This record gives sequence, C-alpha cells and structure tokens, in this order.
Amino acid sequence: MDSLEENVKRVIDRVGRAAEESGRSPEDVLLVAASKMNGADRVVRAREAGITAFGENRVQEMEEKLSAGAYDGARLHFIGHLQRNKVKNVVGRVELIESVDSPELISMIGRRACESGITQSVLIEVNIGGEESKSGVEPGKLSELLELAGKTEGILVKGLMAIPPASVEISQTRHYFDQMYKLFVDMRAKKYDNIIMQFLSMGMSADFEEAIRSGANIVRVGTAIFGARHYS
Ligand SMILES: *Cc1c(COP(=O)(O)O)cnc(C)c1O
Repeated sequence: MDSLEENVKRVIDRVGRAAEESGRSPEDVLLVAASKMNGADRVVRAREAGITAFGENRVQEMEEKLSAGAYDGARLHFIGHLQRNKVKNVVGRVELIESVDSPELISMIGRRACESGITQSVLIEVNIGGEESKSGVEPGKLSELLELAGKTEGILVKGLMAIPPASVEISQTRHYFDQMYKLFVDMRAKKYDNIIMQFLSMGMSADFEEAIRSGANIVRVGTAIFGARHYS
C-alpha cells in the first residue's frame, strides 16, 4: 500500500515532537521534503497532505516539476550538487540553494543574481566528515569562504548545511551533528558582514530527530515520506 499521505502526517508529527523535546516549537524547524525521483503527481500529493517545502537535487528534474506547477504555493530549495553550467537555471527560481561550497560557485551565483536584479539566499555546505568523495567545504576553510561570500554582491548566506558520513552507529552521526552545531554557533559569534547565521540544515530520514536535538532547524527528508527510491 502506498501510504504517502500517512507518511507525511507521521514525519510532520515526529519533527514537531523532536523540536519540543529540544525546547523549541514545531514551527521553529522547517521540514523540507527531498523529492528527487518522485514525479509532479507525488509532489502535489505530498503538498496536499501538508508538506510546505521541497528540496530537489537535479536541475532538469526540478524544471520539469516547476513547469507542471507541482510546487505551487510551497517553498523550493536546491539541495544537490550544483554544476556551474546549471547556475543560471537555479538562481532566482529557488528560495534557498543549500549546497554552495566553493569560491567559483559563490561568484557565479552572485553574478547571475546581479544580472537578474535579485539577491539569492544560500547555505554553505560543510564536509563535516572530511570525506574525500563528498561535496562541501572543509571546516578549516569555512571562515575564508564566508568572508568571500559576505563581499559578493547578489548573494546572501543564511547558514550552513551538512551531510555527515553514512554510519550505522547513531552515536557517531550524533557526534558529527554536534560538531556542526558548534561550528554554526562559532560562525554566528564572529558576526561576519552580510552573513546571517539563521539556518542549520542537517538530518535525513534515518536521523532527523537526532539532528533536531543537536540544533538543526532545517531537515531534509526523502525516504520516510516518499518511500524507497528505485534507481535503475
Ligand atoms: C536525497 C537527499 C536527502 C533525503 O535523503 P533520505 O535518506 O531519503 O531522507 C537529503 N538531503 C540530500 C542532499 C539528498 O540528496
């Protein structure tokens, strides 16, 4: 049985409870439904069941669903690896690009946003596990990147995002979440020019409650809402 609507209700409920357990209210945590590989029809169903924000990984897939009006009335984030030649397709079409991790991307996004006469909000993705194969800036280079972003016209950094290494041990994952929260608080204390440390995006289907307890205020949840993805 396809229980998309039930899943939505259950995940919203779990997010709300984890927020309350950490002394916040449910509205303080934004649930972003990671809808990759789910078509416009399923995005619409999730929206009608109560999802208010979606996150997409692939530009072409996002454009198809945008054309179909799938996200109408909901918020849209780009959460995947952004190729330079796709920057123009994303800037100005999403509220937040969560996955910015290099000086090149910062200047390209800034330039494109200026051409369009807008300011693009972004998060800086941090490679908290120091994994060779993963996107994200090394924690040691974060300050430098924030300073650069703060000087770049057309772009506004609103926080940090991370995908910790896949781990079977929740205690290990928790350790990375806590490290991210510490980094978030440290960067906020530094009060960089033109940087707002408002959002900390971490936590997926397997661990979003842990992430919220560690201080996340955006979680990106796919499988627990849409079911397993079938890669062919
Ligand atoms: C797919 C994806 C998610 C959601 O993953 P699930 O484990 O299915 O919840 C979150 N963040 C990013 C960047 C993703 O690509």
